[in-house]
This record gives sequence, C-alpha cells and structure tokens, in this order.
Amino acid sequence: MRQKLQLKGDTSLSQSAIQRRNSNQRYKSPIQGRKLFLSHVIQTPLSQQYGQTQQQQQQHQQNQIIQGRSHSQSNVVFQDEIPQKWPIIQLPFLKNTEPTIFFQYPPVCEDKRPLVNARPMTEEEIKKYSLTCKVLGSAPYKCVLTSFDWAGFKRIDEDDEDEEWNVQWGIGNKTTLRNMNRFQKINHFPGCWNMGRKDLLWLNLSKFKRKYPKEYNFIPNTYLLQYDYDRFIMAQEAAQKDTLWIKKPCADSRGRGITMVSKKSKVKRDKNFLIMDYIYNPHLINGFKYDLRVYVLISCFDPLRVYMYKDGLVRFATQKYSTNSKDLTKRYIHLTNFAVNKLSPNFVKNQNSQKDDEGSKWSHHAYRKKLDELGVDSRELFNRIKDVVLKTCIATEPFMLDSNAKSQEHRYGYFELYGFDVLIDENLKPWVLEVNVSPSLNSSSPLDKKIKTSLISDVLHLVGVPLWDKKNYKISSPPKYNQRNIKEIPNINTSNCLNKLSQNDFNMLIQTVEEVKRRGKNFSCIFPNPKTIHQYMDLFEFPRYNNKLIERFYQDRCNWLSRFN
Ligand code: ADP
Repeated sequence: MRQKLQLKGDTSLSQSAIQRRNSNQRYKSPIQGRKLFLSHVIQTPLSQQYGQTQQQQQQHQQNQIIQGRSHSQSNVVFQDEIPQKWPIIQLPFLKNTEPTIFFQYPPVCEDKRPLVNARPMTEEEIKKYSLTCKVLGSAPYKCVLTSFDWAGFKRIDEDDEDEEWNVQWGIGNKTTLRNMNRFQKINHFPGCWNMGRKDLLWLNLSKFKRKYPKEYNFIPNTYLLQYDYDRFIMAQEAAQKDTLWIKKPCADSRGRGITMVSKKSKVKRDKNFLIMDYIYNPHLINGFKYDLRVYVLISCFDPLRVYMYKDGLVRFATQKYSTNSKDLTKRYIHLTNFAVNKLSPNFVKNQNSQKDDEGSKWSHHAYRKKLDELGVDSRELFNRIKDVVLKTCIATEPFMLDSNAKSQEHRYGYFELYGFDVLIDENLKPWVLEVNVSPSLNSSSPLDKKIKTSLISDVLHLVGVPLWDKKNYKISSPPKYNQRNIKEIPNINTSNCLNKLSQNDFNMLIQTVEEVKRRGKNFSCIFPNPKTIHQYMDLFEFPRYNNKLIERFYQDRCNWLSRFN
C-alpha cells in the first residue's frame, strides 16, 4: 500500500542537471560586482549577540514573544539600503543560539522584510559560508529559485556529490538523508505521505475520528475500495435516492480520475480508488462552488510546530453550482481544481496581483473581505480552519514520528510545506478534502506569483538556515538524549529550571522561541501557541516530553531562558 512515490514538481532527474550544466546556466555568485554599505544597516556583532545581551533586555524580549508582539520598530532598517541579493545574517534574538540566513523578498512580492537584528555578511563571511542550494527537478518552480537567488544562494547541480549544500528543495534519497548534517535543511520529512496520500490521510484521521467523533468530524466519511467495498455497497443501497459521493484515485492530483457517484452508479472494487461522501451543500459565492488552498508549514514533529500562512488561494468552479442529476458529469460545476477549470471557456485569468478578487482565483485576503461584506465573520471561519488543520497534524504525528525514528538526529533538519484543500459548506463549516505534499507552486498569474514567492521566502526565513563553515566543519556525534521524566514537568519553574532541564531541553525551547520570532507577519503559529496549547494537549495519542515542556514553559511565562547562560 505504501508504495514508492515521486513527488510532484521535485523529481530527481539527472538529465535536467546535465542540460543545465551544458547550457552553463549556473547561478552567479551574488557578490560579483556589488558594493556593501555597512553603515546603512544595524551592526550588531555576533559576539554581542552571543552571550553578552543584558538580562533585562532578554526578559523584555521574552515577554514580547509570549505576548505575540512584534519587535521594537526603532531598529528596523528596510532592505532598500542593502545591495540586492546580498547575503544577510539574521542574528538570534536570544543568546546561546545560532544566527540564520535572512531571506529578502524578491521584487515580485511587492514587500520588504524588516531588517530587525540583521546585518549583511562581510566579503570574508560570504566566502567562508558560501551559501548553496540544490533544487531538484526538470522544471523547478520559479518562486523557489527566485527566493534562493535573492537570499544570495548559488544553485548547485543536483547530481553534484562533491559540493555541499545548505538547503535541498526536493525529496532526498536514503543516502542523502543518512549523510545530512545538522546545518542542512531539506523540505520533506521522511513519511510525508502519511498526510499527503488520500488513503493514508483517511486511515490516520479515521482512527482519531473513532476516538473523538465530535472533534474529528471535519473529514467526509470515506470508503477505501480495497477494504471497504462491501460496506460502501451496503451504504449505497440503504441511502436516499438523491445521495451523492465522489470517487477519487488514492494517489493522484489535479482532479485526474475523479467522478461523481450516485445511488444508481455501478462501482467496481478497485484498490487504487476511494469513495468519499459528497459535500452537497457548499458555501457559494455568486452561485459558484469554491475551495481554499491553505498553506501549512510544519517545521518539526517533536516538538510539534505548525504554522498557517495568512494568505492563500481561493479556487472557483467555472459553472454555476447544481446538484441536478443531469449535471453530475459536469466537472466545471463540481470540481474546483485550477487544472480542470483553466480549460473551461468561462475561466477568467487573473491579470493583476492588486486585483485579487477578480477571475477564477482569488487571494484569501480578497475572500475574507467578501465574507465580511456578506456579513460572515471571516476571523471566526479562519479560526475554525486553523483548528481542523492542527487536528489533522496531531492525528498524523504518531505515524510521522515512527517514520522519523531512524533519523532522530536530523529531526530539526526537515520541514514540510503542505497544501490543505478545504471546502466550506453553507453552514460555514470547514471540511478537509485532502492534503498535498508539494502543493503546486506554479505561477500562472501575477497573483499566484506574488503569493507563492512571498510564501517560499517566508518558509525559508522561518525554518532558519544556519551558517555553516563547510571547510572547517568536523562531524560531531549526534546529541545524546538524557533520561527525561515527563512526570517531573509540572514541578519545573523559573527557580529550579537550571537544575531540572538539560542543555538539549534549553536548546529546544530557544529554537521554538527563535522560530516564532522569525515567522514574520504572514505566518501564524498555530502550535505551540501560548493561548491555545492547553486545549489540544489531550488529543495527542501519546503525551510527548517536548510538547509538555513547552506547555509548562508558556504556563510559567517563559522566564526560564533568562536563567540559562
Ligand atoms: P485532487 O488531488 O485530484 O485535487 P481533491 O480531493 O482535492 O483531489 O478533489 C478535487 C476537487 O473535487 C476538490 O477541489 C473539490 O472541489 C472537489 N471535491 C473533492 N472531494 C469533495 C467532497 N467530498 N465533497 C465535495 N467536493 C469535493
């Protein structure tokens, strides 16, 4: 069942690498022919950041973190002052931790990332840290390449085994995963398909649905034809005459192979397909069905860290909605995929990123505005979306940790950007239809381009690519995990934390806090969020030490880090 799969958009084709090499299209070093204006930006020496910050200052920062406030605006310098594509160091906000690479927004984002606690690299540093990325695939996404380019990364050939990379965009083979070191980042978790395949998603979620039927009623009831064929036939016979289902391939995308099923349809047993209850009453805008593409970043599974992007896409069907039996075969009515509807004569392409409420694809921003006009509380709706997204992540967490068990030392080296497809029904209830591993990052319109490039730049900035002196690096043994007692956690507080917590515990907490600081204005942290963490802790299949420790840390108002030198 868990067959080997190729990821959309990032398959490893060495042929493309050869072509690129032949055509000599390697990215040029960003330092060539450019000058550095150090006087224009904040100069905070690394040494000052490492271990010499005032305790009160740090405590103030921590209070800001827990209260979700942004950094003081007084030391904000915008990127106008920095030469384009010059590598910049994002200094840590707390002591005892490492700086990361700052990702400038490319111009298409029409935005500037504030240079808070950041400074350009010196020429020596650029040579020493030589930033490189491997972007796999024959037709890599432009938004990924542009984001790396604007942060000063050089792209190396995907079959180049000699040159070390800082970030790989594309699924890694076993050797790559085995040989990764703690400075490297890769954009997929081993086992990412636990969420990304429709059948596995259902297997994982249905387990939780049985345990918590009320909490997990956001995925339509599903029959895997390999196992549940007889059950489906019985349900079909017993159903009312106008009941509808939707049949989909377990591991395909873009609406391929999807058909509607009615009471009269003849369904064959087929292990590659599943049947899902059809949400027959979608919320409509101007009479059209739509669904939301929601971008979700998971930066770690232990502790679980989940962020939801504030913008995304709304994809409209191109024929007015109807459940009339004679319209059942009309894909432009029932499917909202871009790949399907772009072929419709009614499809309207977006021409201008500023006009994000026109045509067959909108931004979330425009959608929320429309909802507010319709008298719908969009904030409440998006809170409900966050809730179902997080519950989906919690349900797949045990399976993900199982898949990650062999590569425990790299647990901070992976991240994953998932594309959730969410349908809103007429009662404004969100339904999770599927989760995409490697959601399409194609930019077919100015609106797509703007949203997706900002997204990738934000993802890379948030996950934190550490600086790495590749020439002088010695492989260190992976950190040892001490015996940890989860039962002790409720007794930890500011006065005893130094005795009770290990170096690894502190590192984990610092990393969690730093990441939240780097999330910028576009990502919201949905877990661990100080305001909501308690309400989700009981849903986890197993209580995890790291999650519990973060919960306690927030409860105790985050003062522990000021004690740690
Ligand atoms: P794919 O991976 O091929 O895009 P999806 O599961 O996302 O498959 O389904 C494609 C489209 O079909 C969705 O975008 C949505 O418009 C419609 N759809 C899928 N499942 C349902 C459902 N249970 N109820 C109503 N519409 C659905």
